[in-house]
Order: sequence, then C-alpha cells, then structure tokens
Amino acid sequence: VDNVHTDDLKRVMELMDGFKASKVLFTASKLRVFDLLETRPGLVGAEVAQALEASLKGTECLLEACVSLGLLERKQGGSSLLSISHQEVVYENSRLAQRFLQSDSPSSLLGYMEHCDELVWPLFSHLESAVREGTNQHAKVSGKTITTNNLFQDLYYFRDAQKLQFMRAMHSIAGVAGPAVATAFDLSRFKTACDLGGCTGSMAHELAKAYPGLSVTVFDLPSVVEMSGDLFKDKLPKADLYILARVLHDWTDEKVHALLSKVSDACTPGSAVLVVETLLDGTRSYPALQSLSMLMQTMGKERTGSQYTQLLRQHGFGDVRIAHTWNFVDVVLAIKN
Ligand code: SAM
Repeated sequence: VDNVHTDDLKRVMELMDGFKASKVLFTASKLRVFDLLETRPGLVGAEVAQALEASLKGTECLLEACVSLGLLERKQGGSSLLSISHQEVVYENSRLAQRFLQSDSPSSLLGYMEHCDELVWPLFSHLESAVREGTNQHAKVSGKTITTNNLFQDLYYFRDAQKLQFMRAMHSIAGVAGPAVATAFDLSRFKTACDLGGCTGSMAHELAKAYPGLSVTVFDLPSVVEMSGDLFKDKLPKADLYILARVLHDWTDEKVHALLSKVSDACTPGSAVLVVETLLDGTRSYPALQSLSMLMQTMGKERTGSQYTQLLRQHGFGDVRIAHTWNFVDVVLAIKN
C-alpha cells in the first residue's frame, strides 16, 4: 500500500511539474545551450553564463535542471586529480540533446520547440476557456478572431517571420517522423504522389528517398510553395497517391468531409490516400495532449483510427489500413474502391 501511495505521489508531483520541465527545455533551446555545448563541451557554469550573457545564478539553476531532465550530463572536470577542491563540475550534451536539440542535427526539433514556446505555451494558459467554449484561443492571446476562413493566412502567413517559424516547426516534425511514415506501408506500386498541404516538402522528400520510382508534388497555399492552390477551392493535381499529413486535424468534421470527398473524386480505383495523423488511442498521453493543442490552435482535433476509417469509408475508400509508428504521427492508408 505504501509503495502504491509513493508511486501515486511521485506521479502527481511529476505531473504538477510538467510545465516547468517543458519551459526548461524551451528556454535552454532558445538560449542555444545545446549548440554552445556542442561546439565547446565541458564548460563550467560560469563559462556557459558568460557565453549566454546571462546571470551565473540563473544559468547554474537552468543547467542543473537540464541535468535532472536528462538533457545535459554533469561531469567532474578540472586539472588536478589529487585535490577535489580543484575539480569543477562541467557540462556536456546528453545523447538525447545531441540528437534532437542541437540546431545542426538532421533530427533537430528546435523549430517545433520554438513554435511550442512562442505559440502553444501562451495558448495553454487559456485551457480552461478552451474547454468551456470549445474553440481556439487566439483571440485571447493575439486579439485575432481565427475561423475556418483565415486560419493559416491570418495566423501564420501574415508576416514572413511568423510564416518561417511555422514552416520550421512543421519541417522539424516531418523530418523526425518522415522515415517512419514513408515506410509504414509499402508504397512502391504508386508512381505519382501529391502531398496536399505539404508545406516545406520535408515529408515529400522522405517519400521520394524511400521510393526512387515515385514522383512527389507538394501542393500548398501560395504563401508557402510555388506549385500552389487552395485545397478547398482549387482543382487537385493528378496523382495515384494523395498525402494528407497533419492537415485533417486542423479542420471541423464538415471541412474534413468536403476535403475527403474532393480527394475521392480525384482518385481512380486503386489510387489511395495516405492520412498521416497522431491517432488517439485512449492510452497514450501524447495524442490526447496534442488534441487539446489542436482545440486551442485550430478548428479541429485529433481523431481515433476508427474515426478516420469511418470517414474514409464514407468517401469510397473501402480498404483502410492503420500503422502505428510510435513516432509523432501514425499512418492510415486508404485505397479507393
Ligand atoms: N503536411 C505538413 C506536415 O505534415 O508537416 C504540414 C502540416 S500543417 C499542420 C498544414 C498545412 O496545410 C500547412 O502547410 C498549410 O499551409 C496547409 N494548408 C492549410 N490550408 C490550406 C488550403 N486551404 N489549401 C492548401 N493548403 C493548405
């Protein structure tokens, strides 16, 4: 009984501190602590503080918090092995930081981290209102009323800095999840694919790498790509395989139906749609928390595998298969009857 009690208490304490841990990760990333320790591993706290032009007290607290969260490793440095007092604590990036937090790593998540810190973090302070009202909370944070008609244009694409930040965020997630998405199903029988709402082309690039015989087009809003169009208004380019990666989760059921009906009309029998989304499964916290994030940022939400299956079947995709990647996103392949 005592052990259970202690485990429950530990869990509650961890959950209560979750927001602090996130902010430590975002702040250390923003201050480029991990880039600094990549180029100069083994710095002492005072050297880090000096390089960041930050206070010694604050930097030491942040570095120790990073160690406790597995982002940094603390080592004993110093020149003299004989005199302990001459040994100083030095810091190095952990393996996790090397892989995901250094800006030059191919799997760097810094773009997404910046988006979480600057956009998602302020929105989450209005979670209670989002739950009460069931809508996104941009009006409270930026004063903008965001609806289906202006979601991307007014929120992200109104200024180059915001647009690039959003694109960096999408690019970094697609870079990490892309290889798992590309290989979740054997797509080698398709010759042409069109990534609808494909943003920077990061997912398209992964697909082209995995299937050298596949020619992939990226279709997105004019602010984002040259080959542009509006998913809801314009004719879709011809392809055997349409990709909808993290697009459906932005929209209401009504818009999702409109989009799937359009994709279905563009498909011939045997053509397919690859839906790439974080699937709610009633157990993992990542999809459930991501769904709250969608509630607060967009017009949409995350859905379960069976909800997507049902939606796709309603639009003439009889053969629907689901692959869980255990990455940021899962994959649903649906083949047109
Ligand atoms: N598919 C990318 C990925 O998985 O990283 C980006 C996902 S992002 C959440 C949604 C994308 O849909 C953005 O690139 C956005 O510009 C695009 N988009 C939104 N509304 C659109 C529209 N009406 N027509 C075309 N693209 C649109």
